Amino acid sequence: MDNKKLIKKTPNLCIYPWIHLEANALGSIRPCCQNILTIKDASRDAGGFYWEELSLSDHNTTLEDAYTSPDMINLRRKFLNNERPDVCYKCWTNEKTGMRSLRQAQTQSGFFDIEKVDLSADPSFATNMQSVDLKLGTTCNLQCRICDIAASSKFRKETKTILKELGEVDGRVDEMNEALTHLQLKIHRSTWPNNEAFYDNLKIIFPNLKFMEFFGGEPFLIKKHFEVLKYAIEKGYSKNIVIKYNTNGTQYPKELVEDIFPHFKRVLISFSIDDVAERFEYQRYPAKWEQVKDNIQRFTELTNVNLGTEICITVSIFNILSLDELLGWVNTTNLDGIYFNILYDPQDLNIQSLDEHVKHTIIEKFKTISWNSLLSRRLDINSSSSDLNENIQTLINFMLEKHITIVTSGHQSFYGKAVNGPVQEVRNWRIQTFDKLRNENFVKTFPELAELIGYD
Ligand code: SF4
Repeated sequence: MDNKKLIKKTPNLCIYPWIHLEANALGSIRPCCQNILTIKDASRDAGGFYWEELSLSDHNTTLEDAYTSPDMINLRRKFLNNERPDVCYKCWTNEKTGMRSLRQAQTQSGFFDIEKVDLSADPSFATNMQSVDLKLGTTCNLQCRICDIAASSKFRKETKTILKELGEVDGRVDEMNEALTHLQLKIHRSTWPNNEAFYDNLKIIFPNLKFMEFFGGEPFLIKKHFEVLKYAIEKGYSKNIVIKYNTNGTQYPKELVEDIFPHFKRVLISFSIDDVAERFEYQRYPAKWEQVKDNIQRFTELTNVNLGTEICITVSIFNILSLDELLGWVNTTNLDGIYFNILYDPQDLNIQSLDEHVKHTIIEKFKTISWNSLLSRRLDINSSSSDLNENIQTLINFMLEKHITIVTSGHQSFYGKAVNGPVQEVRNWRIQTFDKLRNENFVKTFPELAELIGYD
């Protein structure tokens, strides 16, 4: 049976576990960014603990080890049986709410060479892989409110201060010491982009590679990966590869822009911008709105690169009330597209965690906005529709999907039980703690939201 027929016959199948892998900022490897399966090292049995994961920070570990692992073989078998693996719950949730899932986008896009893929459970890494998503460590210059030490090195000082205070105030010194040990391990693991074996292994998939996506930290600050891009140029592979960067917009990397980007088939740049002006600066501390706007303008005016640009809006409790203002600003730029990215974690900042009356008020406010008239030109939205109304409706559907009441994950490993509990308490704790450390004021920056959620 050819692959297209097989995919038609098994409608739950996702192509990604055959052609793609994600490495996160700490060197852990997953089938994709939406999947919660962190691939284990089959030779270790640590009883489900953090350190049984395969990690690229072990300097002889490669993506191929993950690709051929029992975890991946098992996942592919499930898809071949037309099952819906639990670890893919984000795709199933998005599809249920009417949002296009990553699974649908990648399996149906026509971008990948699907007929070439060996759809057996244990295929060859060298010939099947066509795409990688590389979160190149935690080197970053920002401390975004929705982020943490697992993705930004700039959180080191704040995280240590918080753990120390929690230990002193609550007398939970042992618990906080354990969290500090985890923190050191995370910092050690974030150095994985120096793993030479990883790059050597990556080179063997270059002949078939169609897509490379980079995140950080801030990927424009992580220069080690420039070498592998230069290798792709030297060997002539770059003309077949699309590269995508997810940047916080604070950097303008001259060497990449002038000497590297022009050699690639296409360069896509996604700017993580969740709000405008003062609210932007609060959420993406200590970025400066004017500087970021200037950088975006410089990128969108480039003529030497086959370039596509978009704004990636991570929708959280912070910006749900001001999306119209942000979209109004997008309309004044030359950006090509908009990507609505739903924040799942930290759960207390997820829009599903809002009280029912808050959700109701948001929906009523949305009804008063003429969404499509905010954009005077056609932009690609979530790479499919250009209809803002439809996309806003999917955000509402997501918000109403379930109501989280207890936070049981996310920052737990850093901050211990001090931040477990009803979601509103965790949210208030988080806002107060970071406001104090940064001398910021949530109520002053978000008066409407603060009143609505009853924060004072
Ligand atoms: S179904 Fe979604 S989460 Fe699962 S592997 Fe595919 S894209 Fe990733």
